[in-house]
Amino acid sequence: MNKIQGFYYVKSDNNVYECKLRGILKRKESKDNCVVGDIVEISEDNYIINVEKRKNIVDRPLVANIDYLVIQFAGKDPDIDYERLNILLLRSFFYKIHPIIIVNKIDLLTPNEIDELKNRLSFLEKLNIKYFLISQKENIGIEELKAFLKDKITAFGGPSGVGKSSIINLLQNEKKLETGETSKRLKRGKHTTKDTNLLELIGGGYIIDTPGFSSIELPDIKDAQELISLFPEFSNRGDCKFNNCLHLNEPSCAIKESVEKGEIDRDRYDFYKRIYEKLKNERWNRYE
Ligand code: GDP
Ligand code: ZN
Repeated sequence: MNKIQGFYYVKSDNNVYECKLRGILKRKESKDNCVVGDIVEISEDNYIINVEKRKNIVDRPLVANIDYLVIQFAGKDPDIDYERLNILLLRSFFYKIHPIIIVNKIDLLTPNEIDELKNRLSFLEKLNIKYFLISQKENIGIEELKAFLKDKITAFGGPSGVGKSSIINLLQNEKKLETGETSKRLKRGKHTTKDTNLLELIGGGYIIDTPGFSSIELPDIKDAQELISLFPEFSNRGDCKFNNCLHLNEPSCAIKESVEKGEIDRDRYDFYKRIYEKLKNERWNRYE
């Protein structure tokens, strides 16, 4: 669903329907009663009559059901900052947006360095997170990335200098080449989405180009149990002795045992401990 000046453009199979919002959905006068990315039900006379529950929603731009957060780094110039990578992963789990990792500039790496990199990133596989090693400059891995992002709503985050603008331009230029073939209606859509930092991809899908996704501020995690829930590799590890185990110094801790056995990545566990300490000292303790 895409929105332009009071009209809502609903894509269904290969058709786009120009729709209006049914009165009952407007009722609350809320700007987020139907937003870009919503999955909706439309009536035969092209009214939106129902908005499905969202898997996530963000502000600026206001978009729901974001499929992926691409967390982009470079293999070199600058080197990967793993603390930052872990914080961005934490944020994506918090906002319920599935993370994808891109490592760009692999043209600058030797085959040995690429092997080392793969080794270092192997913890991502355990988390079911896909990573792409690409080079915008040498056109390595770009087609695979494009195929992956097709029909999806994708936000981009990561430090500056890693080639985010280069990649986004690449994906956007593709669209520009094709404008001659899009209908009048879609052209209007493209124009408007551009204004709101939403770039429409050829064949469907969007890229969200806003700096907010690069932020490394810790999200509003309310307590230790919520923090633990943001480490997917901590789930289904069997029971700890204590129900409210923090996986720190408690005896018979299933998480610490999994770290010892190599089932949980030690760097990730150490990251957990650092964030726990930080939140405890800077946020949680203040209210006690
Ligand atoms: P952003 O700050 O993340 O948006 O990064 P930019 O897109 O502005 O790129 C930063 C610098 O990296 C520029 O000088 C690019 O030319 C360079 N760059 C981008 N992609 C590649 C790549 O695949 N290989 C190499 N060697 N340099 C690249
Ligand atoms: Zn434990």
